[in-house]
Amino acid sequence: MSFAIAIDGPAAAGKGTIGRAVAARFGLAHLDTGLLYRAVGRKVLDGADPVAAAQGLVAADLEADGLRTAEAGQAASRVAAIPEVRAALVDFQRAFARRAGGAVLDGRDIGTVICPDAEAKLFVTASAEVRAHRRWLELREAGSTASYDAVLADVRERDARDTERSDAPLKPAADALVLDTSDLSIDEAVAHAVAAVEKAGAPGAG
Ligand code: C5P
Repeated sequence: MSFAIAIDGPAAAGKGTIGRAVAARFGLAHLDTGLLYRAVGRKVLDGADPVAAAQGLVAADLEADGLRTAEAGQAASRVAAIPEVRAALVDFQRAFARRAGGAVLDGRDIGTVICPDAEAKLFVTASAEVRAHRRWLELREAGSTASYDAVLADVRERDARDTERSDAPLKPAADALVLDTSDLSIDEAVAHAVAAVEKAGAPGAG
């Protein structure tokens, strides 16, 4: 049995939290596809060629230190605009989406490019200010002293790059349920996502 759930949306909209919760609720595997781009971005910051880094990516690279930093996020969004980098990462993501037992993938182009036949598609979004505030709180918790304004600028810059690139730009699939989490708690957002996935006929639902 395969059952793919695609969760797309801009940075810090809550995709990861919702993806992990939905995967746990339905007993599905979960892949944060942003980590693939972050791992390539990290290697490029260390001097590698982006296309060679993407082609040579191995599972252990996803465990590298520093993948969650703003610097790695910016590097990720730069390498993500290179078509050969995206092409090198397609097969791994498609195979993950169709693994036996079902899978949840979160990213920017899962419902549009990687898995257009996903059984359930969500586009999770929130205002740039709300997303920046959430990310700022997370960073502060992790000991960062970055200002809210710097985090907001980072979010806006990545949004612009992700939506304006010509290859696999960030946008909702025509058949995705758009979930704006600006005024929702985490529990409310997860409840909406779980209801949508149940409606789509998830295994173990009901
Ligand atoms: O989701 P996250 O913030 O970790 O993603 C980092 C960057 O990787 C994004 O800004 C985006 O440019 C890129 N990305 C992508 N396609 C995906 C996942 C992430 O282009 N499916």
